[in-house]
Amino acid sequence: MVAREVQLKDPELLELLLIARRGLSYFSRKVNELKFSEWDEPSLLPGWSRRALIAHVGLNARANRRLVEWAETGIETPMYDNPTQREDEIDFYATLNTQAILNLHWHAAVDLDVAWRDLPNEKWGHEIRTAQGRLVPVSETLWMRIREVWIHAVDIDNGGDVHDFPKLVVDRLLPDIIAVWKRRRSEVEIPNIVLAPTDRSERWMMDPGQPEDIVISGTAVDVVRWGLGRGTRGVTDQHGNVPDKAPRWL
Ligand code: ZN
Repeated sequence: MVAREVQLKDPELLELLLIARRGLSYFSRKVNELKFSEWDEPSLLPGWSRRALIAHVGLNARANRRLVEWAETGIETPMYDNPTQREDEIDFYATLNTQAILNLHWHAAVDLDVAWRDLPNEKWGHEIRTAQGRLVPVSETLWMRIREVWIHAVDIDNGGDVHDFPKLVVDRLLPDIIAVWKRRRSEVEIPNIVLAPTDRSERWMMDPGQPEDIVISGTAVDVVRWGLGRGTRGVTDQHGNVPDKAPRWL
């Protein structure tokens, strides 16, 4: 049998596909480094064990797979059927044994990768709706999955770090963090934060032209780690102090 090739042609999206695959390897390596006895220890996400986190990443692949199916068939197949499905599934899967969760993780990840591979080039712009209700082209699933696998690899809390992220991921996270905070402003108050990495010429902020409440500097890697709420290492505010924890992100 001849191996099938990726149908996608857009070079920028192909690079994202590659980074999603590298992210999956990175995440899986961190999972494989865990002893089975360490699976029930806490992850960096409050209230989540590593077991729940790893189950969540598997279920996220399935949810993204449903979006690719939507683009494939034109028939609406949402990420989740109802608002509680995501949490209910994680609660259920987190009770499964380690091997079952590993199987879920691998099977779902490969299934998603095959769906991306086989999606015809002309269907990559098909609109789908994210779990947050945003209408985006299905190609956005690449970035959604990239965020999941790279960031949750850090959340396993066994040595994964933003420092290992490809530069493109760090650079896309800077505006992404600001965009997510802006959307969350309808629920919580978030000050005018400025992300000002010392190794980039650009700055990213909530309210351009308004008084700057908190200016975070450090390398882009350190600023992103802070922005994701995964640690304050290497960053200072405009007074030279270690800033408080960032507003919650996703
Ligand atoms: Zn997640």
